[in-house]
Amino acid sequence: MTITPIKAFNDNYIWIVQSGNQAACIDPGEHEPVLAFLIHNRLMLAQTWITHHHHDHCGGILPLKRVYMSSPVYGASDIEEATHTVEAGNQFSFGDGLVTVWATPGHTAHHVSYLLENADGLHVFCGDTVFSAGCGRVFTGTVEELFDSFNRLNQLPESTLFYPAHEYTASNLRFAAHIEPDNADIQTALNAALQQDAPTLPVTLAHERAVNPFFRVGLPQVWSRAETLCGRKLHSELEVFAALRELKNTF
Ligand SMILES: [Zn+2]
Repeated sequence: MTITPIKAFNDNYIWIVQSGNQAACIDPGEHEPVLAFLIHNRLMLAQTWITHHHHDHCGGILPLKRVYMSSPVYGASDIEEATHTVEAGNQFSFGDGLVTVWATPGHTAHHVSYLLENADGLHVFCGDTVFSAGCGRVFTGTVEELFDSFNRLNQLPESTLFYPAHEYTASNLRFAAHIEPDNADIQTALNAALQQDAPTLPVTLAHERAVNPFFRVGLPQVWSRAETLCGRKLHSELEVFAALRELKNTF
């Protein structure tokens, strides 16, 4: 199985999982680059997995459906174009892999992630929940939900690979460096992100634990820095997480 990002819009990635001549497509916000990739690589679109209802994740579903009419579209109850409504715990197969649906609300109320387990390990298509060194904004979900989603994802093995839907890595790392100026891993990752034109994704959970402030809210240096920057005492990891999210909104 190979997993490839297709660039869309300014900074979206549409991930393609390939098994033989079959492809699964995650969050096709637009259809042209997906069609071009499928045709160029002689692939059939076998499945589409949708993480949440935003247009930059769903806009290409119907045009693709017109070409690949029998291919199922998996999505939560708020995805109108879904042919297969999914909820937490549902499983289906793709190639020799098993896909498990996790509820990861916060960015939106019905956001889900797809955990693909195959011979290469565990791959999480997390949409706009986890970004490298950052997290999604809170739209129709709540910051409490987003915090819970992070905690659940953080229980996965550290070799788990995350495939976020946006290339926000460099700007997120600038914010991470603002929170932890002395964190050498963040500086190294920022320098690498600035120097490369290629996608910085996927990333391992181990890497995110080292550089992503939203996975590091329990650490004393992150906690006290968040208190300093937001100018008030914070009483829980959730409050630190929420304060960081607010600080990032205006960074
Ligand atoms: Zn979104």
